[in-house]
Amino acid sequence: MRTLQNYITHHHRFALSDPRYLPVYLALATLVTIFASTTGWLVLIFTIFSQFNLYRLGFINEFLTLAGIGIFFDFHRNQNLTRLLYGTMLIAIAVIVSTAWFLGPIVPTVAWLFDIPALAIFLLGTRRGLMAIGIFFVCVGLALKFGDAQPIVADSVTTMVAYFINVMGATLILVLQLSFYDASRRAMQEALRNKNRELEVLSTTDRLTGLFNRSKLDQAFAFELVGSARNAQSLSIILVDLDHFKRVNDEFGHSVGDDVLVSMAALLRQVSRDTDILGRWGGEEFLLICTDTSLAGALMLAERLRSLIAGFNFPQVGSKTASFGVSCYRDGDDARSMLIRADVALYRAKECGRNQVQAEST
Ligand code: GH3
Ligand code: MG
Ligand code: MG
Repeated sequence: MRTLQNYITHHHRFALSDPRYLPVYLALATLVTIFASTTGWLVLIFTIFSQFNLYRLGFINEFLTLAGIGIFFDFHRNQNLTRLLYGTMLIAIAVIVSTAWFLGPIVPTVAWLFDIPALAIFLLGTRRGLMAIGIFFVCVGLALKFGDAQPIVADSVTTMVAYFINVMGATLILVLQLSFYDASRRAMQEALRNKNRELEVLSTTDRLTGLFNRSKLDQAFAFELVGSARNAQSLSIILVDLDHFKRVNDEFGHSVGDDVLVSMAALLRQVSRDTDILGRWGGEEFLLICTDTSLAGALMLAERLRSLIAGFNFPQVGSKTASFGVSCYRDGDDARSMLIRADVALYRAKECGRNQVQAEST
């Protein structure tokens, strides 16, 4: 199975998670199994009861085996999946109809009757599969009615062996189908899980800086507020705004401005602690939500950040500064009221000459 899997993945560019590779698998496996068991069965009959005239069935089966091999070469060369699936179905049906024609309604024939419907729907899909099933049963009916069935009188051991081979072959195909369905289901679930994870990251991340975006900040802030209110823990926020950022864009262009924002994000990450929630609030503004942090603690953190930024040499742009507004949770606060106080403080920092930290007014 491993080699088959490699063959399909490497030669036909089917990703393993792609459910399309599953019918191909089954097509290969089905043909191999059908022919292995049919041929085995025939060989048995030929060897032990050579008085029966089963050569015609033998030739038909050998011809169908060759056709099956031809179909795989064709698939290998042209990678036409539709032709492979229809070809497989046709051969499978022909094998059973010819068996019904020459052997009549004996157990080996009947065992395969139960396989074809499931196989048809698996390989061709429900609608076309049902059509194939209809055609199949009409053909089998005609074969049983007008066929040239030989009455076979075999000893009980031979009969048992023939039954065993055919029933096992038919069962094997069903088991393969079910395990492929299962593998496909699991591959899809896994793909879906990964996609969800990807979407989760995308929907909470700011594209430029890789920090949390506004909507994630809103959500995290609301969550932390509930926590601090319940546990009577302090909670502070720091609003950061780059000074005269517009000039960067005007002087160096928008993409250099973007680079500055990316550097800013790195500096903020460097200083913030694992428990802080850090994101891009908008344009050139950032928000730090500091859990379990008093106003004094947040002011110290903001001051550390301020001096780090002021001392940083931004590529191309050189020195840039930022202003900070800090507020701390008070009874009855919500996100809005805390943000307003931080914003007022930030505004004051700008008014007072920028490059500084201001606390909310008492
Ligand atoms: P102040 O010191 O008063 O904050 O001055 P400022 O120029 O930083 O403030 P203002 O709000 O007037 O300008 C902010 C500028 O930020 C305007 C906008 O072009 C720029 N900006 C916003 N988002 C982005 C972005 O994603 N990339 C770049 N390059 N620039 C941005
Ligand atoms: Mg601004
Ligand atoms: Mg600014």
